[in-house]
Amino acid sequence: MTLVLGIEGTAWNLSAAVVNEDEVVCEVTHTYKPTTGGIHPREAAQHHAQFASWVISNLFGELAEKNINPKDIDAISFSQGPGLGACLRTVATAARALSLSLEIPLVGVNHCVAHVEIGRWKTPAKDPVVLYASGANTQVLAYRRGKYRVFGETLDIGVGNALDKFARSAGLSHPGGPQIEMYAKDSVNYVNLPYVVKGMDFSFSGLSTAATDALQKHTLEDVCYSLQENAFAMLVEVTERALAHTGKNEVLLGGGVGANMRLREMLDIMCDDRGASFYVPEKRFMGDNGAMIAWLGLLMYKAGDTIRVDDSHVNPNYRPDMVDVTWLKE
Ligand code: AMP
Ligand code: MG
Repeated sequence: MTLVLGIEGTAWNLSAAVVNEDEVVCEVTHTYKPTTGGIHPREAAQHHAQFASWVISNLFGELAEKNINPKDIDAISFSQGPGLGACLRTVATAARALSLSLEIPLVGVNHCVAHVEIGRWKTPAKDPVVLYASGANTQVLAYRRGKYRVFGETLDIGVGNALDKFARSAGLSHPGGPQIEMYAKDSVNYVNLPYVVKGMDFSFSGLSTAATDALQKHTLEDVCYSLQENAFAMLVEVTERALAHTGKNEVLLGGGVGANMRLREMLDIMCDDRGASFYVPEKRFMGDNGAMIAWLGLLMYKAGDTIRVDDSHVNPNYRPDMVDVTWLKE
């Protein structure tokens, strides 16, 4: 059995997990919660620095209960990007320290690719078009000739950040996504909002601002409903075109916004119409989690993709299509 310890901390969630080929052995998470407003990058990084040793020592405690010695771990993986620079550097420092002190090889993983691979692990999806809809990132991805290609992506902010930003302007607390979903359930009254798909890309910033403006004339319920309808229809349109273009017949949903039942329903209807299968992993594997970093770390470690500490710098703009998918055979 290969054992890999992975650490995630690109934004709000600090989470470390150990996985083997079969299962998540243990996972320990400590979440940064802003007291006011949204995620403050420096505060999030300070949170990660403050709780890194707590998370790791609790993880080692859980390993000890399972009679696993930290020395049995084969590799340490961490999110190399994309994400908030200060958060990435903090987590990378913790991973390097573990790697050096335990003399265990280091693996740097791409956070977006980790969302894809945990979904492929935890659902029957084999070669899907992936809608990765999270706070900061929103991308439509699919495997083609050695890479996860970006078929469509946001031109500005992620769909989750657009929801959160609107929610804050409406006086709701962070994260706004789940509350918007709740208010949207009390309306079927559509108010006109921008719908922005350009080629295969989408843009959410103007939609978020227009939704805020619409609050002057319409109820919160109506605006939440309409914001969801537009934002999610934009995502589904591009996902459908990626399916048509690639000829694939599976859709996999990932990212925190994937918790939304209306988004799932719309994707389900689209997949049904096209005869495609639609897969959603368990909720704990959708938002940012340590298990997905450990799992991609395991795949990469087995493919020989380790890095030297000297080469382990982080990249806040690390794109999934920069990664050679060495662990997949066509
Ligand atoms: P992630 O960045 O993948 O960890 O996901 C965080 C984002 O997911 C935040 O922007 C949340 O507002 C959003 N989110 C979480 N639950 C829901 C939901 N039920 N509906 C819409 N967005 C959600
Ligand atoms: Mg994410």
